Amino acid sequence: MEAEDRKDIKSLTLEELKEEMTGLLEKPFRAVQLYEWMHKKLVRDYEEMRNIPVSLREKCKEYYSFTALKAVEVQESKIDGTKKYLFALADGNMVESVLMHYKHGNCVCISSQAGCRMGCKFCASALGGLKRNLLPSEMLDQIYAIMLESGERVSNVVVMGTGEPLDNYENLLRFITLLTDENGLHISQRNLTVSTCGIVPKMRELAQNKLQITLALSLHAATDEKRRELMPIANTYSLAQLMEACSFYFAQTGRRITFEYSLVRNINDTEKDAMQLSELIRGQNCHVNLIPVNPIKERSYVQSDKQAVEAFRDRLKKQGITATIRREMGRDIDGACGQLRRRFLAE
Ligand code: SAH
Repeated sequence: MEAEDRKDIKSLTLEELKEEMTGLLEKPFRAVQLYEWMHKKLVRDYEEMRNIPVSLREKCKEYYSFTALKAVEVQESKIDGTKKYLFALADGNMVESVLMHYKHGNCVCISSQAGCRMGCKFCASALGGLKRNLLPSEMLDQIYAIMLESGERVSNVVVMGTGEPLDNYENLLRFITLLTDENGLHISQRNLTVSTCGIVPKMRELAQNKLQITLALSLHAATDEKRRELMPIANTYSLAQLMEACSFYFAQTGRRITFEYSLVRNINDTEKDAMQLSELIRGQNCHVNLIPVNPIKERSYVQSDKQAVEAFRDRLKKQGITATIRREMGRDIDGACGQLRRRFLAE
């Protein structure tokens, strides 16, 4: 079989793998064993699958590809132990992922694409454009590789790294199925957050799946005019359409929306901005996450100072809106979205 025709074995569900085994004239329980090696024991190739007969391993090698990531760089924060990983995919593309330690457990932030085509002005991942979508297996691999490297358990996953997850929709859904499957890591849907810049039709489609995941919407501005300056996607979908999609998401799933709002000095951090934001999201079942923007060297955006960030939060609170300031993790390592990958590609 030509290498490119092979199926990606780690992206198959257990049911699909059983069908594959039947097709290869193997017993279905082999699928259970293979699945367990891949998604529970997290092995990195067929050779480690000790209870799989060599003949079947050979068949698998012929018919299925097996993804594995190579850690090119690992940085650890001296401040809070946050770890940032730069991984090479099999074709040489790069993605980055982050491991953060919280009181309630460990959280991994993964990338959904190599690069991104959304073009947000403040984001380092946008600078080189989209290289390609990640496979479901390649999203899982980031978590698996981090668990192996760190020896730590992971309880929460956020899809907030490089890429727009809803621009890689089918693979994202399959990733969610595999990640939450009881035969694999079995991470609860409620412990998974997917962040989007706001692709309205996909938000609606996701709502109709009635998953229990948290949807985070990157808002960053409270008027269409201002949002268009920061995020090209705002030229396609208006804030009114976005707010309707958020209400629909809550109606379908009962899950509160998280609004992400990165504060940029003198751009979107004034009292007027806070008031406009309150007006916009009034009536939504939501939570606002304020993020002091992480300046990237290619742009002139400056982080709002501590007082401005706190004043913004307090203004929202006065309007009855729950808001928290995101703790900055790993300040001393290439912190923001896509910066480690960016620096590496530049070198
Ligand atoms: N494409 C998705 C997910 C990836 S980005 C999205 O747009 O939501 C995850 C979050 O980090 C988004 O809210 C994004 O707008 C924000 N972000 C990107 N670059 C940033 C930076 N330099 N400083 C602060 N937040 C940033």
